[in-house]
Amino acid sequence: MSNAIFSAPHFQNDDDARKMLESILWPAGPVCPHCGVINHSYATKRTGVYRCAEVVCRKDFTVTMRTVMERSKIALHKWMQAFHLMCSSKKGVSAHQLHRTLGIGYEAAWFMAHRIREAMRQGGLAPMGGGGGIVEVDETYHGKVETPRPRSRGRIPKPTKGGKSGPADKRAIVSLVERGGSVRSFHVAVADKASVHAIIVANVAKEARVFTDESRLYGNVVADFSEHSTVKHSAGEYARGDVHTNTIEGVFSIFKRGMKGIYQHCKEKHLHRYLAEYDFRYSHRVKLGFNDTDRTVAAIRGAEGKRLTYQGAH
Ligand SMILES: [Zn+2]
Repeated sequence: MSNAIFSAPHFQNDDDARKMLESILWPAGPVCPHCGVINHSYATKRTGVYRCAEVVCRKDFTVTMRTVMERSKIALHKWMQAFHLMCSSKKGVSAHQLHRTLGIGYEAAWFMAHRIREAMRQGGLAPMGGGGGIVEVDETYHGKVETPRPRSRGRIPKPTKGGKSGPADKRAIVSLVERGGSVRSFHVAVADKASVHAIIVANVAKEARVFTDESRLYGNVVADFSEHSTVKHSAGEYARGDVHTNTIEGVFSIFKRGMKGIYQHCKEKHLHRYLAEYDFRYSHRVKLGFNDTDRTVAAIRGAEGKRLTYQGAH
């Protein structure tokens, strides 16, 4: 392996990679995925296979069971390399690059990348802007929808951003970023008042200060939070004191440059996973105290309890 960053043993052989995974996913000892008992099992003669010591269980398990790596034929040290590459590169890693760097088939690399994105997808998080923090909300459009919605039915919302085509044939994304914190992005069928409002209410704490542009999409947000301030881009206003949406616009720009430069084509049904990947890196950035290793460990922890089948990925 010519790449110096992969000189550590867990990037070099399957056994060390397995030990590394066990230390990350089982900090208090092996966890039986069948009955949930912690550190009450014994190693069998088969490498990496443990047998639960609970009398009612007695089942065998491995560290990759019920993670995105389950049933993968790819060696675990290659998984470690792939997790590291996707967590340490600013804009992501193409399946083609994974295929060449790891020496695995293109299809296998493509599926692996989607499973790592699934591990990066975060859910069940606490509301943003708790304790009076600032949450910026904005929408953007990326790529074309596969089946454009009919434009003739009266209430199709107008695009709120400059651009030749409106939301009827563009994929809409709504993102929320907490200043000095994390970001959450959602691909929505239509960015209308109802969908935007539902996302904000589900993800933002009541005491948050919510900043948006003057779009009508955010008109009824005001009543739900301690403050809703808007900047009037149409009037040439981009900031008024600390009221601005520059943070979320910066997040969109990283996403769009990355998608254009690295991934190019992305089917609409995969968009949410690419969003999860960019959100994950932003929410675990250096400024928040994560180096490449910490970020990789966080992604590996997220692999637990998630599955993505080959059929499900297509
Ligand atoms: Zn068990």
